Amino acid sequence: MSNTEFDKQHIWHPYTSATAPLPCYEVTGAKGAELTLIAQSGKEATVVDGMSSWWCTIHGYNHPVLNAAVNDQLNKFSHVMFGGLTHEPAINLCKRLLDIVPQGLNRVFLADSGSVSIEVAIKMAIQYWACQGREEKSKLITPRGGYHGDTFAAMSVCDPVNGMHSLFKKTLIQHFFAPAPQIPFHQNWHPDEIAPMRDIFEQHHHEVAALILEPVVQGAGGMRLYHPEYVKQCRQLCDEYDVLLICDEIATGFGRTGELFACNHADISPDILCIGKALTGGYMTLAAAICTEEVALGVCEGEPGVFMHGPTFMGNPLACSVASASIDLLLNGIWEGEGWQKNVKRIESLLEDGLRPLSQHPKVADVRCLGAIGVVEMKQAVDVAQIQSEFVKKGAWIRPFGKLIYVMPPFVCSNEQIATLIEAIHYGVTKLP
Ligand SMILES: *Cc1c(COP(=O)(O)O)cnc(C)c1O
Repeated sequence: MSNTEFDKQHIWHPYTSATAPLPCYEVTGAKGAELTLIAQSGKEATVVDGMSSWWCTIHGYNHPVLNAAVNDQLNKFSHVMFGGLTHEPAINLCKRLLDIVPQGLNRVFLADSGSVSIEVAIKMAIQYWACQGREEKSKLITPRGGYHGDTFAAMSVCDPVNGMHSLFKKTLIQHFFAPAPQIPFHQNWHPDEIAPMRDIFEQHHHEVAALILEPVVQGAGGMRLYHPEYVKQCRQLCDEYDVLLICDEIATGFGRTGELFACNHADISPDILCIGKALTGGYMTLAAAICTEEVALGVCEGEPGVFMHGPTFMGNPLACSVASASIDLLLNGIWEGEGWQKNVKRIESLLEDGLRPLSQHPKVADVRCLGAIGVVEMKQAVDVAQIQSEFVKKGAWIRPFGKLIYVMPPFVCSNEQIATLIEAIHYGVTKLP
């Protein structure tokens, strides 16, 4: 049995059918912004990774500095329990994080994946109010169109339609959904936009622990780029009505949107911030829920006096070491001597110039770009298997979903590599049926 045949018959992949899975390509190497994989011809092909392995590999693959960080730690120790023990990799990482996250956040809970960090944030918010004698504040508010992960509490605040809540309705907790924000990032704000959210706050604040949202970019829920003023007004509502604000920056953190954190576009700080994905430069899984002193102290008032969560692999030293190295790279700018801002801006203008003309095409509904994110929304859903095999022939790794063809490439992509992605998208949009 060939590798791909074994894979097809025995291995689950994300969001894939067991009976009619989409084709999978075997990766044999990865360096810089490129993957080497076995194309459908059976031959090796090198493709530019337009996805950064799902928002993660901001510095590209096989980076000598990140490799060294893992190797150095590997030669010391790769894991120890975090209960009653601590270590320099975790301490160094948390110092760096507290230096760069929005103001006021100062207690770091290291979690093992983005979804787990969301579970942790939700538990913190609910436990916070319970410890203040406000057990009734146990619900969440969230805009439609969101994505926060695939575990149960995270799923309960994903968009109810995209997130297939109907499948799990007996198990999922019902929260309050506001309409998705409508005003795009680059358009003019209108105060009516926040009115439905305000209504929910007015009616239900006494039973709500937290509002959770992805600031400015709704990622896997539809790649929508919305107005920062919406985030700002949500912060104000939370303050006015005694509700905590959880910002999910698992996709947007670490420069992707042109700010280090997407909250910075709105000039606000959440009460709890979730980060993950690019935290380790895409080397391994690590996430964090970072809260304010007030939340941390509030959670630990009265009984049980502790925060009730503790993953086995909490604070994994290898992951923490590579995360520190990734943040140092990000801040000290080791790409062609330029910092991340310049590179993200460079990619933003290449994507904007390259993709914008497609907005005229009759099959295209919308083109939108922000930071190192470029999205072409089609009028009809695309045939993923077909378009992907054409993309591979054009030297690009791009994985559309539904009507969306989008890229969020590594910040280290050269202009030529971005051009390869843009040409592939043009071909996919204009030449395929
Ligand atoms: C990917 C993602 C998550 C879930 O993270 P996992 O590491 O896949 O569990 C949560 N929220 C957002 C915004 C994400 O993009």
